[in-house]
Amino acid sequence: MLVGVPKEVKNHEYRVGLVPASVRELVHHGHKVTVETKAGEGIGFSDADYQAAGADVAPDADSVFAAAEMIVKVKEPQPAEYARLRDGQLLFTYLHLAPDLAQTKGLIDSGSIAIAYETVTSARGGLPLLAPMSEVAGRMSIQVGAHCLEKEQGGSGMLLGGVPGVAAAKVVIIGGGVSGTNAARMAMGMEAHVTVIDRSLERLYELDMQFGPMLNTIYSTVDAIERHVEGADLVVGAVLVPGAAAPKLVTRQMIRKMRPGSVLVDIAIDQGGCFETSRGTTHDAPTYIEEGAVHYCVTNMPGAVARTSTFALNNATMPFTLALANKGYRRALAEDEHLKRGLNVAGGKVAYKAVADAHDLPY
Ligand code: NAD
Repeated sequence: MLVGVPKEVKNHEYRVGLVPASVRELVHHGHKVTVETKAGEGIGFSDADYQAAGADVAPDADSVFAAAEMIVKVKEPQPAEYARLRDGQLLFTYLHLAPDLAQTKGLIDSGSIAIAYETVTSARGGLPLLAPMSEVAGRMSIQVGAHCLEKEQGGSGMLLGGVPGVAAAKVVIIGGGVSGTNAARMAMGMEAHVTVIDRSLERLYELDMQFGPMLNTIYSTVDAIERHVEGADLVVGAVLVPGAAAPKLVTRQMIRKMRPGSVLVDIAIDQGGCFETSRGTTHDAPTYIEEGAVHYCVTNMPGAVARTSTFALNNATMPFTLALANKGYRRALAEDEHLKRGLNVAGGKVAYKAVADAHDLPY
């Protein structure tokens, strides 16, 4: 199959659909890959690296889209990109179509077959192509949280791990799923005093078995959240209620009672945020202070560590990219019900019920 990798066009997006090692894997399986010039430049992959892996380098996006039978990307296609897609062409990328009518219509009109990373499922449950980004955001939340606790950032001046003779900071993580567990690992590694609050007893049991007495696990109630948040130096919001906006679990009142300069990192901000005072921020201006607390609410945290994020994403997408290239989309989807759940648009129609429902379109 002819596989095309355009350079991402969204502002500050440095990730790329395929790293050179993934190109080599596809070429090894007999496929041909065309990469747009400078596609990996922002994260240290030169055109020469791609050529060494066996790719052709094309001078612009038009040539990549014109040549490819399948386009592999990271972010949802922008208007200029879906205008380039053609009938029957395969698109494999994040789409997030439910809140985006313009893109949904653009993909329908293109006649392309669009498979979304975020709706591919796994036999073990969960969303395997979203999980790597939650891992990145979870691990990053402690790194940025520790930084925000510094005086220069408006923080209270606490060192996360303390020093001998001085107590460590208290880190409270609300939601112990993929991102929350990764946040907990990092916070424990930095020797903070760590508590995870979750409403799933099963999840708390697993965390307790995994980390033992290093980790304090607490069942989620209004009372528990209030008590732990008010005494915390760093709170990480990592909840997810599938298909719904994040619940506002931490109120303004609770934040008012925290020590001035305490820090709140809201990972769940892409679903509206789980703190009453949260509003989305960008990497250019990631924090603001409200009720005396430093808030970090960046909606695309993994973008800041685009190199790690690209490798993590490629590790997860590679088996599916290969299956699509090796078998063609019809057989690949017929043989894998989990990949089939990724199908969002095909043959000029929405092929994913939640997207059709969101826009009142036929399914
Ligand atoms: P997950 O499903 O793995 O975990 C969510 C956890 O929240 C579950 O364990 C669930 O039991 C728990 N939960 C739900 N309601 C709760 C409540 N009332 N009290 C306590 N716990 C509760 O989800 P995840 O992959 O870790 O994702 C978490 C959030 O991070 C999502 O909103 C996701 O979209 C977001 N995310 C954001 C970024 C970013 O850049 N900001 C990046 C990746 C993921």
